[in-house]
Amino acid sequence: MNNRDKTILIVDDTIVNLDILSELLYEYDVVEATNGEEALSIVNEDKIDLILLDIMMPNMDGFEVCQKLKENPQTKDIPIIFITAKIDEASIVKAYDIGGADYVTKPFLPKELLARVKKELQIQDMISELKFLASTDPMTKLYNRRYFSTISEHTLDLVKREKKDLSIIMLDIDKFKKINDTHGHHIGDKVIMHLANKIIICKRKSDISARFGGEEFVILLPNTNINGAKIVAETLRKSVENAHLVYDINNNTLNYTVSLGVSQINLSKNQNIQDGLEQADEALYLAKKTGRNKTISTH
Ligand code: GH3
Ligand code: MG
Ligand code: MG
Repeated sequence: MNNRDKTILIVDDTIVNLDILSELLYEYDVVEATNGEEALSIVNEDKIDLILLDIMMPNMDGFEVCQKLKENPQTKDIPIIFITAKIDEASIVKAYDIGGADYVTKPFLPKELLARVKKELQIQDMISELKFLASTDPMTKLYNRRYFSTISEHTLDLVKREKKDLSIIMLDIDKFKKINDTHGHHIGDKVIMHLANKIIICKRKSDISARFGGEEFVILLPNTNINGAKIVAETLRKSVENAHLVYDINNNTLNYTVSLGVSQINLSKNQNIQDGLEQADEALYLAKKTGRNKTISTH
């Protein structure tokens, strides 16, 4: 990643300090704030990768800015390097206690500061990579089941607060064992990846899809009632049914189908994600039992 892609917010009430830092960090995209309030509003609006934060500032000091950022789930992971004239032990300890990533005293050594900035950004990149690996299925790059259970709870809270609907689609490849047996596991994997792409194309951006198990997938549809979810499910089913998947260099193609179960979580009855999943699973089971390549909904 290019340094220009990284945005660093520098916060200091002394303009000349901002000038020095901004010159030193010329390789990065730099945003400046001269007080705590301004810093908070910038962080809430722009994507900031790192903050260099002065402590002694009028009105709101750097400690308070840091505490406010750490209280907000949206901004709590942005690393903060304090740059300050305060050299007393209590301030240094407090800075780390409240979540600061690093502490640099003024006057600072320019190259040392640059090295610390670089290191902090590298740590952030590693954390992002680890988060990605922990939350996605390596084959399809869809969310995995573990991450789905976390994000679905957040989504449920959100739709409850906004008094909106929440629906679930569960789907499973039909007779997938036969595809593996006929063409080999390797081609079976291609089918799974093909279906994952179809899901990404058919769902809306706000819908959350995950690989639930081997050849089983789930889509969570916020702000969508069962009728809306049925339409998405049928669009996906037809799109899979009509696809000719090229599986080798000789342009041989294969066809496959999916069965889908659709449910809407009944929020007035205080149903949870697990209830919704169980109902969608029951509907999916019925779709399998009554012929496959079909969508069945709970109502
Ligand atoms: P049904 O229509 O009832 O769903 O039948 P099915 O054959 O699809 O279902 P079954 O549960 O009997 O078989 C699922 C198969 O999926 C068994 C398993 O070996 C295979 N499978 C699971 N994960 C993967 C994977 O990552 N890659 C491949 N190629 N196969 C997988
Ligand atoms: Mg100051
Ligand atoms: Mg199956």
